[in-house]
Amino acid sequence: MSPRLDCYACGKSYATLDRKRCECGEPLWFDVDSEGFVWPDAGRSRGVYRYADVLPVTEPVGIGGAAGATPLLRTPRLDSFAGCELYLKSEGQNPTGSFKDRGSTVGVSYAAETGTGWVGTVSHGNMALSVSAHAAGAGLECAVFVPEETPEERLELIARHDPRIVRVEGDYGQLYHDSLSLDAGVEFLNSDTPLRVAGQKTVAYEICERFAPAVPDAIALPVSSGGQASAIWKALLELERAALIDTVPKLYLVQAAACDPIATAYRDGREGVTPIDAGETIAVSIANSDPPSGTRALAATRATDGAVVSVTEPAIEDAMDHLATVGGLSVEPSSAVAIAGLRALAGSGEVDENDTVVAVVTGSGYKERYDSDVEGRTIDLAALEDELVAVMGTGRGKP
Ligand SMILES: *Cc1c(COP(=O)(O)O)cnc(C)c1O
Ligand SMILES: [Zn+2]
Repeated sequence: MSPRLDCYACGKSYATLDRKRCECGEPLWFDVDSEGFVWPDAGRSRGVYRYADVLPVTEPVGIGGAAGATPLLRTPRLDSFAGCELYLKSEGQNPTGSFKDRGSTVGVSYAAETGTGWVGTVSHGNMALSVSAHAAGAGLECAVFVPEETPEERLELIARHDPRIVRVEGDYGQLYHDSLSLDAGVEFLNSDTPLRVAGQKTVAYEICERFAPAVPDAIALPVSSGGQASAIWKALLELERAALIDTVPKLYLVQAAACDPIATAYRDGREGVTPIDAGETIAVSIANSDPPSGTRALAATRATDGAVVSVTEPAIEDAMDHLATVGGLSVEPSSAVAIAGLRALAGSGEVDENDTVVAVVTGSGYKERYDSDVEGRTIDLAALEDELVAVMGTGRGKP
């Protein structure tokens, strides 16, 4: 099949993979005829390329073979907090610690296959780290555009892979669009570009394959650009076309209240998402006030009968703390947002305790430090047993 890009909004099709956005202004996605798609044999490789039949590229280069195949955990200890039968898709276990690796490997492998020597991205977080690492492993050059004022410590993890880091003054939302219209022979893998979305849809293929022939009631995820929400929606449409799922899970999208342009448009019943003046949030990975796939993400929730909600800073911290102390999972604040959102949806009766919900835990908590008081009593070795009993008496660590 020849490569094709489609517009979800106006239906226009393009027989190329060069464009990123439709003439109507909305983002394009890679389309594939999934009608004859069946679940691959058990012996087929695991990870992103298990689903090579529905991807624009079939072989990984560099570290791409390590992307995907993340664990799906059933976490009953978190059910009462989340208000449902909770499963966690643990995307922090990707090679650079977030789901971005699924999209980066497809973009980088495609660039390598087509002889494009350069890849680029507009990010100062997980996506920049991911693209830089995949490019290094593939022997491609990489340009990372970051906002001018990005602090050096934020860039340290990224700089290890030695991309060209370029600080850009001016509007960061505009930079997303301007980077895509550059004609310099760089394959830009921005948050919602078609190659990235194609790779990132594999998370939903993995979730659905694990549940098959059943289907979870809902999938909950934090949303920023709307790229991942679009990818999951695309996967569900393809699996429905392949008759591998008979009902489509609801998509619950969650944002931080301090920066919630998609939730705002949803609450106001609007068709499209418009930029907002955002405040500060600890969920830095999802603080996009001008999301390029916001309107598409909104369409995804409506099409799946889901919802978009936003959660406060204390609710995010509470969920993060609960995941760590009751679930044993260290996650980014942005990932905890999904669990906080489920708690809110359960509170309002939208989610029921018997609902099976998969929350996408988008990124690892082991990359950044957060303020916390560390308790640790010093005891004398000679009195180890007595002192240990005393420590145990404080009740820490009991279920
Ligand atoms: C990028 C990112 C998100 C948001 O994904 P979008 O595709 O931009 O909506 C959420 N969580 C983490 C950890 C991320 O890195
Ligand atoms: Zn269009």
